[in-house]
Amino acid sequence: MTYANVDEHLGLGLDGLLRRVSPNIGRILEKALADQEISVDEAEQLFGARGTDLFALLAVADVLRERAVGDVITYVITRNINFTNVCYMGCRFCAFGRPARDPEAYTLSIDDVVQRAREAWAWGATEVCLQGGLNPHQPATIYEDMVRAIKAAVPDIHIHAYSPFEIWWGSRRLGISEAEFLQRLKDAGLGSIPGTAAEILVPEVRRRLTKNKLSREAWVRIIRTAHQLGIPSTATIMYGHIDTPRHWAEHIDLLRQIQRETGGFTEFVPLGFIHERTKLYLEDGARPGPTGMEDLKMHAVARLMLQHTIPNIQVSWVKLGYKMAQMCLQAGANDFGGTLFEESISRSAGETQGTFTDPATFERFIRDLGRIPQERDTLYRPVVRGPVTLPPPRLWQPPVVQAMGEPAWVTREPIPTL
Ligand code: SF4
Repeated sequence: MTYANVDEHLGLGLDGLLRRVSPNIGRILEKALADQEISVDEAEQLFGARGTDLFALLAVADVLRERAVGDVITYVITRNINFTNVCYMGCRFCAFGRPARDPEAYTLSIDDVVQRAREAWAWGATEVCLQGGLNPHQPATIYEDMVRAIKAAVPDIHIHAYSPFEIWWGSRRLGISEAEFLQRLKDAGLGSIPGTAAEILVPEVRRRLTKNKLSREAWVRIIRTAHQLGIPSTATIMYGHIDTPRHWAEHIDLLRQIQRETGGFTEFVPLGFIHERTKLYLEDGARPGPTGMEDLKMHAVARLMLQHTIPNIQVSWVKLGYKMAQMCLQAGANDFGGTLFEESISRSAGETQGTFTDPATFERFIRDLGRIPQERDTLYRPVVRGPVTLPPPRLWQPPVVQAMGEPAWVTREPIPTL
């Protein structure tokens, strides 16, 4: 039973549920069901939904998910490599970055990073995800050097690496344009970039989070440039701190505008704020992360706003926990994210979920929802382990990926027992 069909069990159907919601919310939900665009004002109203209104919102998001991408829930086998936690930036929401002399500061050598990528490939991963602090003690060429070294050792692994903040920093250190920096990384073997460091793309909020060092304009410019160079990215939001539903609606609207122009976002990933060890919470009075209802609404409203532009909506099991992630997968989301193996950034901020989910666990949670599990790669190509007997389902891919003309699916040997 899902939010979308629970009312059928009560003998009412979705129409019956929609008849019982408040008029304003009902009108917006009907619009979404009629494939019309939800405005920022309307999205803000949806974020305020409670009771039957909320239940109807979740049901409509689930219907639109099914229409856009069907019943498949995807996941990717990936390893996170947070290669340094040394960072000079001091973002107020971050508990990961450390000064160079901090006893907990660390920086992996390129050999260590390559070794981790080799292990990831041997364990069956199709992707490594590299992100780190802005470390002035590493050579200016470190970003390109790491990509080249990984590709030399593990040529077929997809390198998903470097947030727009790292692109901004790396290009400035080398004294070259962001476009030239991105092109050099692409030539070295970079496959895609994480759309992190977006936080909330509203200047009044960014000023308090990062002193606006990476401005909204800079984030958008770097993402646009990457997409124009044929480098896809994810899109994210970090919510539940000093932000409001108006900011959330404006943020998602901006992502939707960029996607219409570039077609380079592979998915949207809501990231709830993990507060425990952050200055933003301890000193600045930020909220202690989103509530469960806010998590559900974030995934549902995103589905309504992005249904025609970014149909893949990912849950972050690291932030949500498995059980809340399952609920969000019934409220508009369709991707379970990555296996990860290790992830230092959320853990540093106080998150207590595990740092590795094996594919069998993903499949158990997905089948428990009555949905169909499917491993994918970073570019949303189905991954088939072993001989192909039936073609796997076609997954939604963004225009930038379609233009690459990659094969429709990839094959890999069965996953070894870990
Ligand atoms: S969020 Fe990134 S840039 Fe900001 S302090 Fe943390 S590691 Fe540094």
